Amino acid sequence: WFDVSIPWLDRVIHRKPRVTLRAVDGVSFHINKGETLALVGESGCGKSTIARLLAGLYQPSHGSIEFDGQTVQSMSRKARHAMRKRLQMIFQDPYASLNPRWRVGRIIAEPLATHTRMTAAQQRSKVDELLAQVGLDPNDQNRYPHQFSGGQRQRISIARALALGPEFLVCDEPTSALDVSVQAQVLNLMKDLQRDLGLTYLFISHNLAVVHHVADRIGVMYLGRLVEVATRDDLFANPRHPYTRMLLGAIPDLTGAGRARVPVGGEVPNPLNPPTGCTFHPRCPHANDRCRIEAPATLSYGDTKAACHGLEEGRI
Ligand code: SF4
Ligand code: MG
Repeated sequence: WFDVSIPWLDRVIHRKPRVTLRAVDGVSFHINKGETLALVGESGCGKSTIARLLAGLYQPSHGSIEFDGQTVQSMSRKARHAMRKRLQMIFQDPYASLNPRWRVGRIIAEPLATHTRMTAAQQRSKVDELLAQVGLDPNDQNRYPHQFSGGQRQRISIARALALGPEFLVCDEPTSALDVSVQAQVLNLMKDLQRDLGLTYLFISHNLAVVHHVADRIGVMYLGRLVEVATRDDLFANPRHPYTRMLLGAIPDLTGAGRARVPVGGEVPNPLNPPTGCTFHPRCPHANDRCRIEAPATLSYGDTKAACHGLEEGRI
């Protein structure tokens, strides 16, 4: 349904002197309609870049993104506009994305005012419906963003994202700014909305415990590369890539398998000067000479895909 293949994507992070960063390096994956694909990794791994590519906020210079059978780069302006309505984005910090001087009713109605011919009365009743859908009160239309808690503000941005009836939501760390107890409520709301409205999610997070709660499939990213893609259950029960194992070792056990808790070791290398070969080799307990020279190819292990020489060689 959504097919993504990006051989590389460089981002200019400083103009004078010019410094570019390979934000995405050889990433390809697909998203099935109605599922949640989560991308996880430490900050700077390229997951937000991928989110913005899919949301149409960046144009890929190479490779292709296909949405529902159409190549995004070669779409007409009209087709791209139509796609925008089907695809919405939810950000980490709801407060930053809500205009503090606007009442909530106007904030949620803005996409309706821009993209539809609804009258003011029709917009108001649609906003009532959207507020109810996200568990807020219709009277909240007349209040301002600062009068709401963090979790309520994220509900407001979800209501705005739903206004045009999208099919696909790109969610970049949507609950990372919230307290743990509030996170669970917002995640449950997102799951309910997915079930009721048939939504598809790309869910970006640095937190595997959060991802365990929502994802059908999980992609693990490291320094711009996708190192493992698996179903959620396979990933937690049988992680393949050494980096995935390291990430899982750092979180409390969620599966009941009694895994020992080990912190994530080593530091993420400077992405401007990534290590040669497998970029994970300085942190990997299984690295050998080949790992230091040659980048591993992505291969299938059952339903899981992973990029690791040690797996390929059968020594992990
Ligand atoms: Fe470790 Fe080598 Fe696999 Fe990279 S390719 S994760 S260094 S074993
Ligand atoms: Mg980010």
